[in-house]
Amino acid sequence: MRYTHTVAQSGEILRMVIPQMAQHPAAYTPVTYTLWYEHVAKINPELSNAINQLTAGGARIDDAQTATLYQQHVLDAWSRRTLTLNTQIEKLLDTFEDNSIRVTTGANDFGQHWQALRQALVAEPDSVHDNLRARILASGAAMQDTITELKQQVERSAEDSRRLKLEMNELKTQALTDPLTGLLNRRGLLDTWSDLMARERDTKALWAAVLFDVDHFKKVNDMYGHLFGDQVLRSVASSIRERTRESDLVARLGGEEFLVLLPGMKLSQAASVAEAIRTLIERDEHRCNVKAGRTAKVTISGGVTLRRPSDTLDSLIARADQAMYQAKDRGRNAIVPML
Ligand code: GH3
Ligand code: MG
Ligand code: MG
Repeated sequence: MRYTHTVAQSGEILRMVIPQMAQHPAAYTPVTYTLWYEHVAKINPELSNAINQLTAGGARIDDAQTATLYQQHVLDAWSRRTLTLNTQIEKLLDTFEDNSIRVTTGANDFGQHWQALRQALVAEPDSVHDNLRARILASGAAMQDTITELKQQVERSAEDSRRLKLEMNELKTQALTDPLTGLLNRRGLLDTWSDLMARERDTKALWAAVLFDVDHFKKVNDMYGHLFGDQVLRSVASSIRERTRESDLVARLGGEEFLVLLPGMKLSQAASVAEAIRTLIERDEHRCNVKAGRTAKVTISGGVTLRRPSDTLDSLIARADQAMYQAKDRGRNAIVPML
């Protein structure tokens, strides 16, 4: 649970939040309230730093800044925390699994040892007093039962922990995947990009980026309905995947926008790939299963650019976006490269 305040505490925070919110022009939405709540309650130091910096010179926070603060310091920070937590649990489960293997091996060793002892006792009955022999056998048998039971329990727990790990991995994948198309979502893209950039030694290595946006997609929805629009998005996604390599990163940034990152490609090569995707989609005929017999055609516009050493993912996307808007200005259904 993100918040643990009682009714009284949250009431106190509410009283402090309202005058704070009133000093800024952003609308009084739940998003704005969340920001000020976390700031006033002092439960999000990174957010408080960002707010303090923004308001240092007496500046006021508007709707756009509120949206950015919310994305960066509430949503993203929250998912980072969840992922870190997952990693810690994974490590814990690894240790538990190792321990359970050791216990199981120990139990096997004891079982073998006791088996040998029992055989010796049975083989030489006269050398040990009858009564004593019986007690040793009984206690040994009880011990054997206990160990067998323990071993079964440990095996069951190890199986549980393996299943839990698989479930958590699945959850992690889900958080990073766009459910409609199966492509990476924005968070998944950022995660993968950050990993790749952290590992990359050569800051001059070529990375091309293409941003695609479906043309007049609103009209597709208006004419054929939202469900058909979704179908078109899935089809666009699979056309992009069809014309890209396994090593390329393909993400749905949201709505009808897709980003492709092409490692090792020059601008001209990436423009050719983008062009191939554009023509493939242009040729496609989408069947409308809501209005039988009707088909729809869609086109896409794309902006191509190259990564600069100083780029963040956002600045790279912003440049690809500029190029894409030029393609829209040129009448859509076009690819524009921009260094
Ligand atoms: P342009 O050529 O300038 O890009 O025009 P456009 O109509 O494609 O652009 P606009 O941004 O005006 O509209 C995008 C539309 O995409 C609006 C929204 O309803 C639709 N959309 C966003 N996400 C989804 C989705 O997940 N499914 C469907 N079916 N439609 C979506
Ligand atoms: Mg768009
Ligand atoms: Mg569009």
